[in-house]
Amino acid sequence: MRCDYCGAQAKVYVPHQGIRLCVNCFKKNVVSRVEEEVYRFNMLDPSDTVLMGISGGKDSFVLLDVLSRLHDPSKLIALTIIEGIPGYNRQDELDFVKKATMERGVEHIVVSFKDAVGLSLSELVNLGNEKRLGISACTFCGIIRRRIINYYARQLGASKTATAHNLDDEAQTLLINIFRGDTSKLVRQHPLAPVPSKKLVKRIKPLRKIYEWEAATYAYYSGYRFQSVECPYIIYQPTVRARIRRWMIMMENEEPGIILRLLNSFDEVVSQRLISKSGSTLLLNECKNCGEPTSPGREYCKTCELLMKIGVIKS
Ligand code: SF4
Ligand code: ZN
Ligand code: ZN
Repeated sequence: MRCDYCGAQAKVYVPHQGIRLCVNCFKKNVVSRVEEEVYRFNMLDPSDTVLMGISGGKDSFVLLDVLSRLHDPSKLIALTIIEGIPGYNRQDELDFVKKATMERGVEHIVVSFKDAVGLSLSELVNLGNEKRLGISACTFCGIIRRRIINYYARQLGASKTATAHNLDDEAQTLLINIFRGDTSKLVRQHPLAPVPSKKLVKRIKPLRKIYEWEAATYAYYSGYRFQSVECPYIIYQPTVRARIRRWMIMMENEEPGIILRLLNSFDEVVSQRLISKSGSTLLLNECKNCGEPTSPGREYCKTCELLMKIGVIKS
């Protein structure tokens, strides 16, 4: 089997494009599709300093590798967040990220939940459980991670933050927002959506048109070491997302390209006019406790609300 681009031995079949590629051409194909997406939505300016959330997972490794090819590595900062999950945040994974960032000339910083809010994720979860609040670990994790990334981006003078969400993640979120009828979140998901607060740093998702399997394959052929340990809280991930994910994979297997077409249709339907119309009505408040942005109509940000619920701070 020969590579459709260069004639070398093919290693990867890309069903949504109907092509067989060698490892080199496959990696070039991924990088050029990310570049195209970055260009299409004007995600990066050469002057941008970008703070990337680099967890050490495969997608974040791909984000680091691809962005350091497309942007000046001295203007990239990798931020690893240590949630504080016993048995999960391991030193050897952190060492791997340190090495990978150093090899690419990217600055690397590490921040823990404990540094940011005074407690590790497991301590937060335990306090919530003691009070029988029914708050899942993933809720704490998602809200506090977003807060840390935005806060450190501001502190470090970054003009953009970049996350490693892939096509599967984005398509799942899109369908969840549609099923919930949450049109405001739906519009905010679009790469051209305006930033609704001066305190929010613009977030970009360069891998939003790269399938999860493509990111995994790219990582594999780039020397990434897959983690053998899964987060113990993964069983608490929202079931709706997990169901949509299973359904999407089944549909994609039957009709390759279906997930990509879904996101492309979203990009076409949500026009710039619609975004500026909805964006102008959405200006965030500032939290009464910490001053961070929060949704209109709320007094406190989600992080402070959670910390109040578990009794760590007073209202
Ligand atoms: Fe955080 Fe949940 Fe992912 Fe674990 S599974 S890292 S708790 S979001
Ligand atoms: Zn080739
Ligand atoms: Zn707050």
